[in-house]
Amino acid sequence: MNTVSKGPEFVVSRAEGAWLWDENGDRYLDGTASLWYCNVGHGRAEIADAVHKQITTLDAYTVYGDFANGPALELSARLASHAPVADPRVILTCGGGESIETASKLARRYWAALGSPAKTHLISRTGGYHGLHGFGTSMGMDRFRAGFGPLIEQTSVVPHDSVEALEQEIQRVGPENVAAFFAEPVIGAGGVYAPEPDYFARVAELCRGYGVLFIVDSVICAFGRMGDWFGVERFGVSPDMIVFAKGVTSGYLPLGGVITSGEIADPFWNHPGNPFIHGTTYAGHPTCCAAALANLDILEREDLFTASLEVEAHLDVSLRTLSDHPLVREVRSGVGVMAAVELTEKALMEHGITTDEVFQEARARGVVLRAIPTSLLMSPPLIVSWQQIDHMTSTLRSALDAVAARHL
Ligand code: PMP
Repeated sequence: MNTVSKGPEFVVSRAEGAWLWDENGDRYLDGTASLWYCNVGHGRAEIADAVHKQITTLDAYTVYGDFANGPALELSARLASHAPVADPRVILTCGGGESIETASKLARRYWAALGSPAKTHLISRTGGYHGLHGFGTSMGMDRFRAGFGPLIEQTSVVPHDSVEALEQEIQRVGPENVAAFFAEPVIGAGGVYAPEPDYFARVAELCRGYGVLFIVDSVICAFGRMGDWFGVERFGVSPDMIVFAKGVTSGYLPLGGVITSGEIADPFWNHPGNPFIHGTTYAGHPTCCAAALANLDILEREDLFTASLEVEAHLDVSLRTLSDHPLVREVRSGVGVMAAVELTEKALMEHGITTDEVFQEARARGVVLRAIPTSLLMSPPLIVSWQQIDHMTSTLRSALDAVAARHL
């Protein structure tokens, strides 16, 4: 409301590959794959065809009770076959936030079913973003929590880079009260912070030792953005649950889900007295699942997993050339097709420069980036070319120059 009340909206009317066009026909590079999700690029007729075929065969039908449909079953089996989770089971939802609700409730319900109903506390990381539903807001950043009154109180955050701090927090709360630890492989919306190479292996071991479920939020990192299926393979860990959304359909239709280990599902499996009561109307929507299957076909056939590792490397080399810019404090890139360019404290505090100004200058020059309070974020489609990446970098430099000229 604050943004659109200020002036005319930026109306996007068409998109193809890594390009988009506004209503005046002006072209822009999609430096963010919309909101981190368009992994295979825009305008894929193959996904449109799959959607058309599905919607004219079976548009939608509930998966309540024992109801199922072909695309939901096929998608679940396919995701399970690639998931680094022991004896995987799949729960489908309509997006990321809904999947975080599902994982949070399942974690608490699991411990209750095992006779430990006090294990309700959820630990997340500073800068972590887990959507804006109830549990996600409660686990999220302070600036997203304010003004809503009491949220879920059994939550706390630990520094994103410290295994020791996580252990201290588990001890402070008491392992008998902690249900789960939530972490993004690379923190996305909070500013693109990659972990130390051994961070997750140590976290997984720690959580196992204390009887705390280890839940990975791969809403951004899955489906090629980290060069693999679920964004954790490069760290060699097998979480208790993986939350996904976005790239599973590249955003062509809304879909998300949770992949949980068999161990977590077992207390509810064929135990009528022990139900996991949870679900939503559009879960397992066959048309959304058909879009996902076509999207996964593209990812696999074009091997965008391998391609994305090359994009990751080039993005890193290209963006690091901005390190010498007087407004730039730090470039964070090199782990996944995602990056942040953080402005100096001096630029932000003394000169009153905002990242939104840089964002506006870049967009006026034909490149869409994302602004968070201290940084500009980038997460292009995985099919982006090296020329397009260099174009993004040089446009960001011109935008920074223009802002510097105005303020310094
Ligand atoms: N988790 C992460 C890591 C995300 O980046 C997001 C969305 N940006 C979400 C959860 C929430 O997903 P949604 O917006 O689909 O509810």
